[in-house]
Amino acid sequence: MIGLAMPDVDVWSERVAVALGQNPGLFTGPGTNTYLVGTGRRRILLDTGQGVPGYLAVLEQAMARAGCDGLQEIVLTHGHVDHLGGVAQVLDRFGPLRVSKLPWPAFDAACPVAPVALGDGDAVHTEGATLRAVHTPGHAPDHLCFVLEEEAAIFSGDNVLGVGTTVIPAESGDLLDYLRSLERLLEEAPGRIYPAHGPLIADGPGRLRAYLAHRHDRERQILAALDRGPAPIAEVVKQVYTDVPEVLHRAAAQSVAAHLCKLEREGRVRRLDERPPLEATWSPR
Ligand SMILES: [Zn+2]
Repeated sequence: MIGLAMPDVDVWSERVAVALGQNPGLFTGPGTNTYLVGTGRRRILLDTGQGVPGYLAVLEQAMARAGCDGLQEIVLTHGHVDHLGGVAQVLDRFGPLRVSKLPWPAFDAACPVAPVALGDGDAVHTEGATLRAVHTPGHAPDHLCFVLEEEAAIFSGDNVLGVGTTVIPAESGDLLDYLRSLERLLEEAPGRIYPAHGPLIADGPGRLRAYLAHRHDRERQILAALDRGPAPIAEVVKQVYTDVPEVLHRAAAQSVAAHLCKLEREGRVRRLDERPPLEATWSPR
C-alpha cells in the first residue's frame, strides 16, 4: 500500500468529493478517504480520518472544490480510529453536528459525543443524495457500508479497498462474517465503489469477485500447508506468504488466524492444544 500517491482533494462524481485524511501508513495506504456527499450547501461528511493536524485545511479545500460551505452531519462506517478519530476536531471547527454509526460500546467510548444509532436498512438523506446503510460485519463488528441510491454505487468503508486487501483483526474480526458481507455487497450489484482507502473502484462487482477469489485461494494454500503436517501459524505464514515482506508477517498471521478460526467453525481443521489461535498448533481435521 505504501508509495501510492493520491491528491489531497478530488471530485469523483457530481455528488461525491474526497478529502484525504493526511494519515498515510502501512495499513492506511495513502490515508483515509473522507467523503463529502450530496449537492447542497451543507453536505454529509462520511468518516473523519484520524484527527491529524492539517486535515481540516484539506477538508475546507474539498468543500470549496465541491461547492459547499457547511456540513449537515457526520456518518461513520465503523469505529476504528482512522475513521472516528477526526470527529472531535471536525466538531471543534464546525460546531455541534449529529454523528451516526452502528453502536459498538468498545469503539464508541473514543467518540466525543454519543453517536446516534444507525442500523441495517436505515437511510440518511441530504440534498441530492440518499445513503442506505448495509450492515457488513467481518473487518469490524460495527461496520456499515452505504449504498448511494442515486448512483447505485457503494461506499465500502474498509470492506473493499482501492489498494491491497482488508485486514480481519484476530480479536474483533470474523472472516466468515466478512465473506458473507462481500456476498451481500455483490447482491447489491453496485456500479462503482468508493473505498475508505485508495482510489475509486470503477468495476465494483469485479473487485468483489476478485476479493472472494483471493480469500478462497488463501484458504486452499493454508489447507495445503497443514497437509504437510500440523504447524503453528508462524510456520504457515512462512509457507504461504512467500511474496510478502517480513514487516507484514504479523498482519499475515492475523489473516491466517482468521482463516483457521473460520475453518475450525466449519469443522475442517482443529487445534492440537488449548492455546489461543495465534499460538496454537493447527492440524487438518
Ligand atoms: Zn477499519
